[in-house]
Amino acid sequence: MQRWIMHIDMDAFFASVEQYRIHPELAGLPVCVGHDPKKGAGRGVVRAASYEARAFGISSGMPVSKAYRLCPDAVFVDGDFSNYVEASQEFMDILSRYGDGGRVRRASIDEAYIEVTGGVQQFPSPLSMAREIQRSVRQETFLPCSIGIAPNMSVAKVATGTKKPLGTTLVGPRPEDVKRFLAPLNVQALNGVGTKTADRLERHGIKTIGQIQSMTVAELWPIMGRGSVWLFRRANGIDDRPLIDNGPRIRKSISKDRTFIEDVEPDAVGYLHETIRSICNTIRERLLSKSLKYRTVTVKIRYGDYSTIQRSKSIPVATDDGSLLERVALEIFNRSRNKNKHIRLLGVKVSSLEESTAQAAVTDFF
Ligand SMILES: [Mg+2]
Repeated sequence: MQRWIMHIDMDAFFASVEQYRIHPELAGLPVCVGHDPKKGAGRGVVRAASYEARAFGISSGMPVSKAYRLCPDAVFVDGDFSNYVEASQEFMDILSRYGDGGRVRRASIDEAYIEVTGGVQQFPSPLSMAREIQRSVRQETFLPCSIGIAPNMSVAKVATGTKKPLGTTLVGPRPEDVKRFLAPLNVQALNGVGTKTADRLERHGIKTIGQIQSMTVAELWPIMGRGSVWLFRRANGIDDRPLIDNGPRIRKSISKDRTFIEDVEPDAVGYLHETIRSICNTIRERLLSKSLKYRTVTVKIRYGDYSTIQRSKSIPVATDDGSLLERVALEIFNRSRNKNKHIRLLGVKVSSLEESTAQAAVTDFF
């Protein structure tokens, strides 16, 4: 059977989370994740830039002051890493529905490989399967991604990089097609070839993957030494690594934070309680949709001065009871918060998760 691997990469991940999940009003605008540039006087770097911001020449790693000069209208958001972790978990969960054996090879927070050698048989073509995955990711997480499809992981990753955002790129399966696809690309398109290796190759006049294809391992040896066989194989599109799942069997926690647009006064108790209830409701829905129960509840409070506290409480038996979650969260909040301080952010997390089915077996004993 023809082997097929997909590499799925979220497009402008951090910026997209801000645009499509946290601040929907920013969709279509130039958005940078990074500190306020203070009209060019601000410090720090851009951690991620939306495609709209990239059109102005803004890229990640650039000082925010320079990004401001390139596009004074760009919107800068601080970003909360827990939102990215949450989006990443949802993304990986979707991929596990499509990967053979539910296996997902996570490469980073926003990219992963799945093997679809078996799964692709249910679709008219590998490309139509890729488009369905793209649609599912978009519908369920609101985020855009690009997909590369090839006979192995190395080539699939290169394929993804050639068309973004919302790209689907198929390479192969014939080895000669794979080689022809790789030939014109810069050596740095290969995952594992960084600037140091690229510089060394360039000193010998080698810039494209095709130039390596025309060499033997013996000819590469004086330049690459022990890395020669590896580079020769990757340049020729050869990679027989099996796809091994490297993710957690079960997610460790589910959390949801809410940052207030303006710090909330300490005596706005009704509003603060309502916020906690609404957060708990979101978590309860996620627990139900994943058939999970929790045992530990954690409440996070960030004050106007950015000081942050987290307090937890565990209950004796795992449950998916949503009203208990609410009661425990409110109790922790009332007991632990400083009643003199304005509040900037509230968060609730459930952890010590168990699958609901496993729990049913335990309660059968009682
Ligand atoms: Mg990405």
